[in-house]
Amino acid sequence: MFEKVLIANRGEIALRVHRACREMGIETVAVHSTADSDAMHVRLADESVCIGPPASRDSYLNMQAILSAARISGADAIHPGVGFLSENAAFAEMVEEHGYVFIGPTPEHIRLMGDKIAAKEAIQELGLSVVPGSDGPVTDDAEAARIAQDIGYPVLVKAAAGGGGRGMKVAEAPDELPDVLAHCRNEAAASFGDDAVYIEKYLGHPRHIEIQLLGDGAGKVLHFGERDCSIQRRHQKVIEEAPSPALDVATRAEIGARAAEAVGKISYRGAGTIEFLYEDGDFHFIEMNTRLQVEHPISEMISGIDLVREQIKIAAGEPMTLSQSDIVLSGHAIECRVVAEHPDTFAPSPGKVTEYHAPGGLGVRVDSQLYSGYAVPPHYDSLVSKLVVHADSRAECIMRLNRALDEYVIGGIETTIPLHQRLILEQDFLNGDYDIHWLETYLGL
Ligand code: ADP
Repeated sequence: MFEKVLIANRGEIALRVHRACREMGIETVAVHSTADSDAMHVRLADESVCIGPPASRDSYLNMQAILSAARISGADAIHPGVGFLSENAAFAEMVEEHGYVFIGPTPEHIRLMGDKIAAKEAIQELGLSVVPGSDGPVTDDAEAARIAQDIGYPVLVKAAAGGGGRGMKVAEAPDELPDVLAHCRNEAAASFGDDAVYIEKYLGHPRHIEIQLLGDGAGKVLHFGERDCSIQRRHQKVIEEAPSPALDVATRAEIGARAAEAVGKISYRGAGTIEFLYEDGDFHFIEMNTRLQVEHPISEMISGIDLVREQIKIAAGEPMTLSQSDIVLSGHAIECRVVAEHPDTFAPSPGKVTEYHAPGGLGVRVDSQLYSGYAVPPHYDSLVSKLVVHADSRAECIMRLNRALDEYVIGGIETTIPLHQRLILEQDFLNGDYDIHWLETYLGL
């Protein structure tokens, strides 16, 4: 097993990885920008190294600085967390070339799934169906128009290298398509350095359902059931729950087994997630994330398995002793992503936390970097806390979540706690009756 792991991330996810390491007796090295000197992940780690100024490109995305930090601290392995360099195949390669273990999949698999067009092709070959759309990138507008006509409007133009809900736009009718294509190509080139775009049918009422997977790199892949992440704003997840209120036991077992079998064929290593849009009883693959997901705790809560510990064990070359029959899902879990934004306008609200009290009690888990007196820096993602609740049934889970949200005090900054309090008591949410468009309709967007 590793003696020392460098955590190439910040915020709650750096803490999450640190906690798993600590419980495994592994020392941790935090890296941080100058804006994060007082961050909780820096305070709790055994060692910390400043890797640059606040801008992410100069610090958390600065591969050389991170590798230097690994050298200085004598780390054995690097955990990339989520976001930042976690799906950067070149970084995974560099880590390995410098003699460290990358806690994640192989660079080849990261590269394959990072190109959404290549990923769709590969996944189809592995036996799963995809959202109907163009075969490969669309470069010619006339050809794009023909494809869109065949699929039927509305269509969604997506960046091959897109992520984080960015780089996609809907064309409702043929006359909108040229502008939408130009917009997406420009945005993709500027944000992702690759202007390749493709077309998909824009589904009218799907749910976002994703399967958590864990592979040993030798063909064995386990599935941990699904997460329903349909409560979204701007294609970004706001509330996630497991299991999905829309699936029955047989459907769950079947889609889990099919997803696991597909990536087993490529001997996938580590944690990964296959994302589907589920509409009218059919699962359509949209992408695979080759890393831990922000919402992984809900799968941990219903399975009782620490996914980060499993990631670390796999990376250290320990045989995967878990088998599918060990993964027994029990009860219900919901996660609210609490962000430092105004709950009505979504205006960013960084600044000093003047008062902090986290909820507790049975079945309540808070993954957060906040503490009283901490100043949320303005430079990064606005996620400040994940409130995760587990209970025997969905109804009890919602009651517990409501109670926990009531207890949660974060003073000095605006957060979306009031929005979560409203959402979870909406009749549609109580009924489990929502799709990916529900929240935007509710918010009048
Ligand atoms: P990203 O990598 O940016 O997260 P995804 O491909 O995973 O992008 O899609 C994010 C979200 O965008 C999905 O959860 C869904 O809400 C919406 N979306 C993606 N593809 C489609 C589609 N073909 N039709 C309707 N909505 C879609």
